Amino acid sequence: MSVLITTANYKVKKTDYSNSEISAVLSKTDFVNRFAKKIILKQTADGIIDYSQFLDFNKPRKKTDFIFLHHTATETAQLKAVANYHMYHRHWKSIAYHYLILKNGKTIRCLKPESTSAHAVGFNSNSVSICFEGNFDVDTISQTQYNSGLKLLFALHTKYPDAKITTHSEHANKTCPGLIFPDEKMEREALDFHFLNLIKK
Ligand SMILES: [Zn+2]
Repeated sequence: MSVLITTANYKVKKTDYSNSEISAVLSKTDFVNRFAKKIILKQTADGIIDYSQFLDFNKPRKKTDFIFLHHTATETAQLKAVANYHMYHRHWKSIAYHYLILKNGKTIRCLKPESTSAHAVGFNSNSVSICFEGNFDVDTISQTQYNSGLKLLFALHTKYPDAKITTHSEHANKTCPGLIFPDEKMEREALDFHFLNLIKK
């Protein structure tokens, strides 16, 4: 089902919703406005698509002890689908992840990196999170998506050098970010880049 939602200032084509979800969304003008604004969003200089100004929980985080890796555990999950699940099914104020890396390699900033989030019980006030679109219990990550993840992980580790890179599965009874997700390789390479960056200075 696809419908064109028109608000006072913006038009956006919705494609991710069932009929009942569309009527729920239509009643949430604020939500529609936030997503409608995407049509005027541009990538930032670092290539990241920034939605954090619309979606943020606006709850600053005091410390960053961990960088968490997640997957969406679905074959596909574009930003609107994640937003729909988190905001309308889970009734959270925003998306739970700081960053979403799509299968096409695009990186989306959903929350400000220094914000408290809702991605891992017990760790939301001391961690930043990256979520990969896909189900890596069964899928193999593409090189494009992997490279975007590595680049972001390196950037976050540079920003938070004392933070430990970890997976959701290390702290919860889940397989997240997936049984065959190459988290150890990604961590090793991000740390290597970090090391190289330090000795270059
Ligand atoms: Zn997870």
